[in-house]
Amino acid sequence: MKKNDRFELNIRDLSDDGAGIGTYAGMTFFVPGALPGDHIEAAATKLKKKYGYARVVRFITPSPRRIEPLCTVASKCGGCTIAALSYPEQLRVKERRVREDLIRIGGFSSEKVDYILSPIIGMEEPYRYRNKAQIPVRTDRDGNIVMGFFAPRSHRVVECDDCLIGQAFDRDITEVVRAFMNENKIEPYDEASGRGLIRHILIRSSRDGENVMVCLVINGSSLPKEEELVRRMKAISCVKSVVLNENTRRDNVILGIRTRAIYGESFIEDRLGDLKVRIQARSFYQVNPVQMKKLYDKVAEYAALTGTEVVWDIYCGIGTIGLTLAGEAKEIHGVEIIPEAVADARVNAKINGINNAFYEVGAAEDILPAATPDVVIVDPPRKGCDERCLAAIADTNVPKIIYVSCNPATLARDLKFLAARGYELMAATPVDQFCHSMH
Ligand code: SAH
Repeated sequence: MKKNDRFELNIRDLSDDGAGIGTYAGMTFFVPGALPGDHIEAAATKLKKKYGYARVVRFITPSPRRIEPLCTVASKCGGCTIAALSYPEQLRVKERRVREDLIRIGGFSSEKVDYILSPIIGMEEPYRYRNKAQIPVRTDRDGNIVMGFFAPRSHRVVECDDCLIGQAFDRDITEVVRAFMNENKIEPYDEASGRGLIRHILIRSSRDGENVMVCLVINGSSLPKEEELVRRMKAISCVKSVVLNENTRRDNVILGIRTRAIYGESFIEDRLGDLKVRIQARSFYQVNPVQMKKLYDKVAEYAALTGTEVVWDIYCGIGTIGLTLAGEAKEIHGVEIIPEAVADARVNAKINGINNAFYEVGAAEDILPAATPDVVIVDPPRKGCDERCLAAIADTNVPKIIYVSCNPATLARDLKFLAARGYELMAATPVDQFCHSMH
């Protein structure tokens, strides 16, 4: 086989970045734009020893699981890479991924996994779910302002004035910014030269849509006519906070360190069940509040607390998981590496009148709480838990560990480690947090 060779391919699965996967002549091919169930004519674009990449020449028989996405830019935008797959099929793909990773990477038997794995929990209405939008602001070839989302694997902005997984008011906000920039001749950021002022619009909202923060990420420390922008934003009744975040670095990290409120507070408040949660521009907070509730309810169900337990909440972020359980536990002990997040967690405990939650700043692999746990909850980033952290947890002989994961591959790896330390995998439930994407 060589580059540009053409062949027929049946697509059976999806890769982590949403490319179709099929096998031809013993080689695995990744095909962007192809979906499970598609029968295509493919052309090889890149060949490695055991796998390769291909493009779709034509669809011989399109997958019956294909739909026409509701979003008009779905095929160009790098956000919803699997929007053309029906939602029930998206859920099947994700559930299968968890099952296969537990078997292949975790080393559990398929009988075991079929026994302990519950059906994936999806959304009833998989749109308008995100409580956070990060919208890059750039200039197009004709010199017009573009606001939208990056195209796949690129920094070209695809104009998108109404993202269907975002909120309807996002568009009102971006249009205010666009008019304000045009009328005051404020330049969008240019990555190539490092010039221009406005880099990103970050919008965060409470679940009920009543409390919205608009954060303009600027390549400088101030904005001309700040009061004028505030006056216009106030016309959108849900906007309760406008902040400027200063980011003059030349890298891809969206937010800088410094944030300054120019209207309202530098935080907004959300409700998570009975809990009030304070969120700042830089706080880590789950982006799908509907599914976050289902996820945390699942954690509570698995924890089955009676009021006497010491609970460790490792990788606790702003404390949300532990704080939702504080009423049913003796003590909550959180560990988190970002000091601002721990500060938020302490504030969140305080504004909810919770006084049995304690926090430590540091890496989970370096420090763990002193109190002996009855239940350990871990919720690490995509790379999973550090082995030292898992070993230290296992050393406590804690009877129950609940592992919240956003990456089934590292989850399976870590479960294998715990299984080797004598723990038994009892139950697992996938919860879809990122409908229309492979995350
Ligand atoms: N449990 C929280 C946050 C989960 S995100 C929630 O549900 O909202 C993972 C968190 O782990 C982030 O807040 C990140 O800052 C933190 N983190 C990353 N590496 C860490 C480490 N080595 N030790 C402790 N915390 C870490």
